Amino acid sequence: MTDAASTLSKVDLLNLTRSELEAFVLEDLRQPRFRADQLWHWLWQRGVRDFAAMTNLSKDLKARLAQRAEIFWPGVDVVRTSRDGTIKLLLRLRDGERIETVLIPMGQHYTQCLSTQVGCAMACTFCSTGELGLTRNMTMGEILGQVVVGRAHLAASGLPTVRNLVFMGMGEPLMNLAELLRSLETLGSAEGISIASRRATVSSVGIPQALKILGDSGLAVPAISLHAPTQELREKLMPKAAHVPLDELLGCLDRYPLKSRERVTYEYILLGGVNDSIVHAKQLVKLLGQRRCKVNLIGYNPPPPSVCPDPPYRAPEQADVLAFEEYLRSKRITTFIRRSMGQDIAAACGQLKLLAG
Ligand code: SF4
Repeated sequence: MTDAASTLSKVDLLNLTRSELEAFVLEDLRQPRFRADQLWHWLWQRGVRDFAAMTNLSKDLKARLAQRAEIFWPGVDVVRTSRDGTIKLLLRLRDGERIETVLIPMGQHYTQCLSTQVGCAMACTFCSTGELGLTRNMTMGEILGQVVVGRAHLAASGLPTVRNLVFMGMGEPLMNLAELLRSLETLGSAEGISIASRRATVSSVGIPQALKILGDSGLAVPAISLHAPTQELREKLMPKAAHVPLDELLGCLDRYPLKSRERVTYEYILLGGVNDSIVHAKQLVKLLGQRRCKVNLIGYNPPPPSVCPDPPYRAPEQADVLAFEEYLRSKRITTFIRRSMGQDIAAACGQLKLLAG
């Protein structure tokens, strides 16, 4: 077998769930089960990608692993750091496709925004990623590979580590449901990456069939990209997502299995002069007022002029954002304004477009 052929047939250990790794150790390597525990620890807790550095494995096993397996980490092509400390990494996948992940400082730790697809098919009108179209889904190894690379980058820079994850980067996570579920399952495995799935938020435009499966899995509570209080306006802003009528989407979310303190989050991007008036706030209260939910308001981030000299929307006025929040709160809807981070490096919500900016 040539070197190239032997590389192609190697198993990428980062792309195996815990049970798949056990099966590989038992059936392929013909080793006892505790070897899977050791490997899992090296892969996810220690972030080691060189079998030679796995000191509690025998010399023979390390040699066998080097023959049969590999640990692929996405390559870091470019790093950009914002004035506010947000870090954007442009990562290269095995086939040369590129995606972005963002590390957002949150006090004593970081929140990492993960991509789940190369590009996105949903074409939301306010989102730079939507302009790229969809190239392909990412694998679990690629999705969680962003975390091991992100953590290694922070550690090498002497910065605190990642504590929360948001599946909110490039792509629609529920359009890549199988790999999303495998990723969430791996997050929840003991002795693994040590970020509990309750610290992971799955952001979605809302796809009822997939939401039903996610709910049944018990692995995450979604944050729904609502962005409009009426079907008519949603069709204009998010034409593909709005194929699912609002009443059907909200009905499906009303049935989402929630634990006692959990609520569905609705994300609402405020577009200046489009959906940010008190009339819209009243419509939103009518829609969500009786529901078990909270609302995150996000001011629109126009792409940098170097990328788009004539952006489709403008940022909302700060006074309008505050008035919108106050109205929702006055109607007893739990509401937060999400601070936009990393705008100067095009790392904020809706700006990810392969280092444009
Ligand atoms: S907002 Fe999300 S779903 Fe819509 S185009 Fe952008 S990445 Fe895709």
